[in-house]
Amino acid sequence: MNKNNILIPKPKSRYLSIQCNHCNEKTVVYSHTTANITCKSCNEIIAKSSGGMAKIFGNIISALD
Ligand SMILES: [Zn+2]
Repeated sequence: MNKNNILIPKPKSRYLSIQCNHCNEKTVVYSHTTANITCKSCNEIIAKSSGGMAKIFGNIISALD
């Protein structure tokens, strides 16, 4: 019995260096984090879990592999 192949998209996850919009502090955030990430300096939310790729509220400086 042959089941249909279901293509499961595999978005590339990586670590992102994000700069806070408020205080310019840089934080490394996992792109698919399941937790809300706050700036360690001013406590602003810089990444929010959204089930897949996190919503990024800061400035993405660079992506790390
Ligand atoms: Zn901040």
